[in-house]
Amino acid sequence: MARQFYSTNSPGSFVDLKEAVLRSLPADNGLYMPEEIPVLGAEFWESWRDWSFEELGFNIVKPLLDGAVPEEVLREMVAGAINFDAPIVKLNEQEYVLELFHGPTLAFKDFGARFMARLMGWLTRDDDRELTVLVATSGDTGGAVASAFHGVAGTRVVILYPRGKVSGLQEKQLTTLGENITALEVEGTFDDCQRMVKSAFLDRKMSEELNLTSANSINIARLIPQMFYYFHAARQLTGGVEPVFVVPSGNFGNLTAGLLAEKMGLKVKKFIAATNVNDVVPEYLEKGDYRPRPSVGTISNAMDVGAPSNFARMQEIFGKMWEPMCRRIAGYAFDDDQTRTGIREVKATSGYAIDPHGSVAYLAAEEWLVANPGDTTVILETAHPSKFLDVMEEELGEGAVEIPDRLACLAGREKVAIEMGGGEGEFLGWLRGWA
Ligand SMILES: *Cc1c(COP(=O)(O)O)cnc(C)c1O
Repeated sequence: MARQFYSTNSPGSFVDLKEAVLRSLPADNGLYMPEEIPVLGAEFWESWRDWSFEELGFNIVKPLLDGAVPEEVLREMVAGAINFDAPIVKLNEQEYVLELFHGPTLAFKDFGARFMARLMGWLTRDDDRELTVLVATSGDTGGAVASAFHGVAGTRVVILYPRGKVSGLQEKQLTTLGENITALEVEGTFDDCQRMVKSAFLDRKMSEELNLTSANSINIARLIPQMFYYFHAARQLTGGVEPVFVVPSGNFGNLTAGLLAEKMGLKVKKFIAATNVNDVVPEYLEKGDYRPRPSVGTISNAMDVGAPSNFARMQEIFGKMWEPMCRRIAGYAFDDDQTRTGIREVKATSGYAIDPHGSVAYLAAEEWLVANPGDTTVILETAHPSKFLDVMEEELGEGAVEIPDRLACLAGREKVAIEMGGGEGEFLGWLRGWA
């Protein structure tokens, strides 16, 4: 039997994998969750340390999507998507960095986007209509999604990004591919972009006519491959220590994937939600009050989110109760000055160039270790520092960060983007005309 999915707003009714992945957002405005999160059995734990990274991933996703995708297809999907490593690097006895930036766009979002593109391609293999993928980005999502879908037959992608709020090279990643990728430069914030995307989905007629689907982290397909590297990190630590995972967070897809990995049986000592001043979740963990609000721009721009879209999933995992969530997750928030200090400190103490998002997590790890000095923390380094070259050079000096070839070659390409106001009406009108 194919795995079923339900909406967090209607626990009693189920859809299949195809509907959950292609619809992305349930009509009731909830989020899809797997009906059941399987616990990995003895067979898995006997071999998990020996498998290649892709084999590890396959053995995690297999029980989750049991029967919904044939095993051989699934194996190939994982192998094609996860064709790069996620190594851990030791900063000191208590702190490790998990490098998630070895994919084509140098951010962890390559994991989710590449798996999702392949899964969507397979799910729609017999459909005769083109699939339109809508995605709002605060920086890295758009590039990862554009790269994952670029040239994929039967798909076209529309990316919305906030003008002036993504880095120069990030913008190049969104706006220089052409072909089936269209970039919209929005006069507004990331939250405006996210709202515009949502409005298109809530317009059922348009959603049907354009065969719309979403690639944001609201899509359950993105979270699945993000579980893989939590397992992969844990097995790279020696002595079987239970890691404290420190997750620099915006929409909380990454952290939610960690929680799902734990549900499947991975031993984790604690999760740490590290944010910049957009601290809705750390505030909730501290006070029990959930107050989404407009986002504020920071130097860790991929985390500038005022209404984290995966919060509903986190609540679902903890039975919509505050205390159980607090037992598993600690929250910390830091401003830009602290983030800059963190970048210099990591360089000075261990010679490692950590990007602004990783720096926020590093600061959280440091605070955690003050109260829990014997713990082993794993800091998720979500992007390569060269994606934030201005900040890195301001703090560490020119030439402190090498730019990998796959990013450097974008600098000379021409940006092509359509300018747009931040209103839903204008966007829906454009979409109608464009389609
Ligand atoms: C997207 C992103 C984040 C935030 O991840 P979420 O899953 O949205 O919490 C953190 N760092 C970088 C570099 C990102 O691109």
